[in-house]
Amino acid sequence: MRGCRLCLEAGYDIRSAPVVSGPPGAEVMLIGQAPGRTEAETGNPFHGPSGRRLFRWLQTAGWEEEEFRRRHHFAAVTRCYPGPHPSGRGDRVPTRQEQALCRPYLDAEIGLVNPRLIITVGGLALRLFFPASRRLSDLVGLAFYFPPDALAPPAAYETARAQELVRFDPSLNREGRWLVPLPHPSGASLWHNDPHNQQRLQHALAIVAGIRRHCDL
Ligand code: SF4
Repeated sequence: MRGCRLCLEAGYDIRSAPVVSGPPGAEVMLIGQAPGRTEAETGNPFHGPSGRRLFRWLQTAGWEEEEFRRRHHFAAVTRCYPGPHPSGRGDRVPTRQEQALCRPYLDAEIGLVNPRLIITVGGLALRLFFPASRRLSDLVGLAFYFPPDALAPPAAYETARAQELVRFDPSLNREGRWLVPLPHPSGASLWHNDPHNQQRLQHALAIVAGIRRHCDL
């Protein structure tokens, strides 16, 4: 992945090399949208203002930033900085073609890292696992449990019957995988303005905290 230039060859004006971060043996994988300018410059995922907000959230679930970065894995829908949005506001959202070009890396990564918990961050990462008809507001605040036979190959997610839970159930703490969606922490997102969404976020973080404790992550 580090040497990949597929999107550039396909005509997209990506502005960095892939951002890759995480130790072998990580048990949590966080999947974001794509690196931003700061992440591209530092090679460090969630390094800018969005990252500060994300790590405040993760702190309420029990992880300090330094510990999370040292122990866990960061992935994204696409791995190179897509450049600024043509409007000048924020970053360009990677196209469907770029997402498709990068997907095999992510699938291989999930298979290699084999995390117990996947945290998706934002709507684009959510689309990796759920149909477009399921909106962020429908899914933030829920946990999904995939039984062990759904773990490999990662494409099995598309056919797996994930168990959908409104609260963490320790009786499911077996060998399967958990998935918890979070919204994107960007200050530009209007999603956070809705008080119901704030409640959904608090619920999601409580679920993450429960999984972290019970699975010792
Ligand atoms: S975004 Fe993914 S597929 Fe595109 S060049 Fe970067 S690593 Fe390759």
